[in-house]
Amino acid sequence: MATVSREDFSCAAATNESAYRRVTVPVLKIEAGPGPAVALIAGVHGDEWEGQAAILDLWHQLPGILQRGTVYLLPAVNAEASLAGTRLSPADGGNLNRAFLGAPARGYTESVAAALEARLLPRIQAMVDVHSGGASLRYLPSSVITRYGDDAYDARLPALARAFGLPQCVFFRGNEAGSMPAAASRHGIVRLSAEIGGGRETSGSLVERCREGLLGCLGELGLLPARPLARDAEVRLYDLDAPAATLRAREPGVFIPDVELGQSVAARQQIGRLIEPARPDTPARVLASPQAGTVVCLRAIARSGDGDCLFQIAPALPLDSLPSRY
Ligand SMILES: [Zn+2]
Repeated sequence: MATVSREDFSCAAATNESAYRRVTVPVLKIEAGPGPAVALIAGVHGDEWEGQAAILDLWHQLPGILQRGTVYLLPAVNAEASLAGTRLSPADGGNLNRAFLGAPARGYTESVAAALEARLLPRIQAMVDVHSGGASLRYLPSSVITRYGDDAYDARLPALARAFGLPQCVFFRGNEAGSMPAAASRHGIVRLSAEIGGGRETSGSLVERCREGLLGCLGELGLLPARPLARDAEVRLYDLDAPAATLRAREPGVFIPDVELGQSVAARQQIGRLIEPARPDTPARVLASPQAGTVVCLRAIARSGDGDCLFQIAPALPLDSLPSRY
């Protein structure tokens, strides 16, 4: 039988209306004897819901089924942003995925990151950190592998991506020293992420796929019995780091996509328009696909401005080609 304890912590989050305000971040520690220690984390961005809902489900379910090791559950690690339904922290506008910058912590967001660096990261060997498109984007539900800096290829990553069970896996590179991938890299933690859904909404089926994915990863890491997953199912890898993978708006307009998530497109194919209904004499700006591939990410908000990400499109690669990205 697993032992369950609360490891909540709180951080100062003063506002003009509340001088000594603190925000509590909920943490559940579930111990089931020898084995690896793993953190399941969601809500780094407060408006990304699938992981938050799935880990809340596991908060109640996992103590009854965990067989080995230790699991830390953080369903809403940026609790203030989750409560507000925002990507960034309301108290200081901080992005928790850029806040792992070490001492001294400046404000609420960096205090949460500093607490995680001091209290959680030294104790774990693996983490799954679930994201989604949030308010402004929608993703084809995908596991995510992020290479930070010159991190060496880790053969456990494709195994974790397969165990997560989604047919897509997205690859990013990261160089921001304050990111969660950077912090995980500094602590030698193997980290899988995910991008599931978005657009300020979620659904029971997306939450269920995320929950099954997290359980699959715990099985792969040896904390649960191996799950009868469709491991033979092909996982397609999409390199979203290539500059040609992202199409941004270069001027303001109302974004009208002509394609759907998951659709295959050709290079230079028309995939959408930017229009300006209040200026009917302004011609529509045609948006052409920057490369051939699958639409993996699509902006969820019509009114758009210069620099906004509208599409991410990349060709499908076999997951076994991952080492060639390193
Ligand atoms: Zn996110």
